[in-house]
Amino acid sequence: EAYSLKPEQVETHRSSHVSKSCSVSYANTGALHIHRGKGTRLFDIHGNLYLDTRNNVAHCGHNHPEIVKAIKYQVEQLNTNTRYLHPNASLLAKKLADLFPSPLEVVFFVNSGSEANDLALRLARSFKCAQSPKERSKTHHLIAIDHAYHGHTLASLDVSPYKHHQGREMIRPDHVRIVPYPDLYRGIHSLPVPDEEVNGNTDKVNSCIDSIAAKYASYVEAACNEIVAEGNSLSAFIIEGGMSVAGVILPPKSYLKRCTDAVHSAGGLYIADEVQTGFGRLGKCMWAFQHSMNEDEDHNDCIVPDIVTVGKPFGNGMPLAAVVTTRQIASCFESLGVEYFNTFGGNPVCCAAGLAMLHVLSSERLQENALVVGNYLRDLFLELKSRHPLIGSVRGSGLFLGIELVRDRATLDPATKETSYICSTLKEKYKVLTSVDGYHENVIVVKPPMCFTKADAEEFVSCFDKVLANDLPSASNSLIQMDRTPT
Ligand code: PMP
Repeated sequence: EAYSLKPEQVETHRSSHVSKSCSVSYANTGALHIHRGKGTRLFDIHGNLYLDTRNNVAHCGHNHPEIVKAIKYQVEQLNTNTRYLHPNASLLAKKLADLFPSPLEVVFFVNSGSEANDLALRLARSFKCAQSPKERSKTHHLIAIDHAYHGHTLASLDVSPYKHHQGREMIRPDHVRIVPYPDLYRGIHSLPVPDEEVNGNTDKVNSCIDSIAAKYASYVEAACNEIVAEGNSLSAFIIEGGMSVAGVILPPKSYLKRCTDAVHSAGGLYIADEVQTGFGRLGKCMWAFQHSMNEDEDHNDCIVPDIVTVGKPFGNGMPLAAVVTTRQIASCFESLGVEYFNTFGGNPVCCAAGLAMLHVLSSERLQENALVVGNYLRDLFLELKSRHPLIGSVRGSGLFLGIELVRDRATLDPATKETSYICSTLKEKYKVLTSVDGYHENVIVVKPPMCFTKADAEEFVSCFDKVLANDLPSASNSLIQMDRTPT
């Protein structure tokens, strides 16, 4: 019956019965009726073929045949709640834990990134509560990064300043301290060299980066000191190893170590949100929290978070997410005596998808592909930057790149309307799907399926080039705000 609906009926049923707060992308220029996907491509009902540069859920590619086969097989066998023993969940817990450095080894399966972060915050609080009865009566404070998004549940919203900025529903809760994101390009402490040089690894640039990392970390140190001085309890510091909604901000080297040292000294835990960046997207490493290491260092020697959350790509489109933590933290939670039950979290079908995703990730060497194609794509954008002054910054790693657009490279005046115009034109005229994020909504965030090829990269950049050269009106005041396409 659903497939017999006409496109107009799809629209009217949705607008009559689905809340307007559940927005769709490209609402102004024409929302898409996507009905099929393959690799890095999506097809709409009119037969148009789109290049997808924004879908980080279809990690191994849309409708990967091996993953589809695994899901189909399991649906035909059984799907049920999670109170029975099943090999899929046990094997997936082992395989997931094996991807983390020690002592991260205990897995909780959940259904979404929001749930994962919610549980992570709860584990952090129970870790404190298990230590002494006095802790139970205290307010548990959290430190979060400005413009971060960690989910839609009440607890994860508390640490999502992106949503505090967005509407009038909520303001920052008193128990949450917000610190600035460590933006080297336009932040309060920025690096006075172009991003080509940031990648150059020279001593001069490295020592500049280190001193900026220290300045940004000092906000976390100050928040920790204040919380302790006020006699409150610091529960956790939550951060993405690569900040997506903030516009692809990778923490500068030494930042995470400095922050973690302060958080641990104040008795709090370090939660790494890998919902967007996990499973090899940054190319160099499996997890973004490992990213700020030197090339020759073992990534497992990084500052290991106390709790990690994963989601989006884990089930390649199926609702599968997880929290991974240490035996000690899990034991504290267990010692409080509350059973944790999640009806769908880790069900056999979603776990089959997770197992198949991990298998394809490794057999098709997609992390390596992310590094090679990501570097290639970054170089293509850097070349574009040399010809188009609108491109202010090209940054990121692997297939997690940010292209920040500015009207003026000296003042960094954000080219917000231009960014939205480019995004809508890429979709309308060139059939390329992109997403826009960042505090000023002027960063094109590139996070395609990990099977993105060099040919895809060339097509993307050549279309981008054409929009900048031919389609963008030269007078910025003639631009109207077009679509919003956040994550
Ligand atoms: N953490 C991050 C970093 C995210 O980007 C998101 C979703 N965009 C979430 C958590 C929430 O995940 P979900 O939408 O699966 O609940």
